[in-house]
Amino acid sequence: MIVAIDGPAGAGKSTVARAVADALGVGYVDTGAMYRALTLLALRSGVDLADDAVLADLARANPVRLDHGSTGLRVYIAGDDVTMAIREADVTGAVSQVAAHPGVRAEMVDRQRDIMAIGDWVSDGRDIGSVVCPDAAVKVFLTASVDERARRRHAELVARGEKVDLRVIRDDVERRDHADSSRAASPLVVADGAVILDTTGMGIDEVVRRIAGMAQEARS
Ligand code: C5P
Repeated sequence: MIVAIDGPAGAGKSTVARAVADALGVGYVDTGAMYRALTLLALRSGVDLADDAVLADLARANPVRLDHGSTGLRVYIAGDDVTMAIREADVTGAVSQVAAHPGVRAEMVDRQRDIMAIGDWVSDGRDIGSVVCPDAAVKVFLTASVDERARRRHAELVARGEKVDLRVIRDDVERRDHADSSRAASPLVVADGAVILDTTGMGIDEVVRRIAGMAQEARS
């Protein structure tokens, strides 16, 4: 069974998806981390971020590996553990450009389908319910107001010890919303059959309970 959680930046998808996977006792596929890992590798290699074919080749030659260890989900590309580095501002600033390329998306979608071909999974991203797993048993579109999403992301970065301005974060959230929703290849949309959950003013626990409940209902 697949639980697909899509939605805009900062809606709390990865926190929620991880907790739902734990509650159900299944694996978690963080597809945003995969696009971020490729973006980091492209930045480190000095590749032109506007070149679809070169980026698609880079993705094909360097499949992202997600490892579920005792220290949580770890992300590897080209032999490096990039779990922390993919959260840095330079990657966040460039990832939507990389993820907009059709060739890159085709590679990533193949890899995501391979990972989820057998067994039960929770996955989050922008196109899980619409493209990667259109037959998912549970589809959720997780959202919240722009202000709330910016506040959450800001709190997350501050907790990690980063010095960031809330206005800069809000601008980044809006810019990524626009880029992710208006791109030609697999734009962020509410998938057919998805339940829209607006989490503005809602606690994480309640969101997790609701989605885990949907999954348990779908399983029975
Ligand atoms: O979820 P996260 O914020 O880590 O995703 C980073 C970026 O990767 C998104 O802003 C989006 O541009 C891209 N992405 C995507 N499709 C996915 C997951 C992420 O285009 N399935």
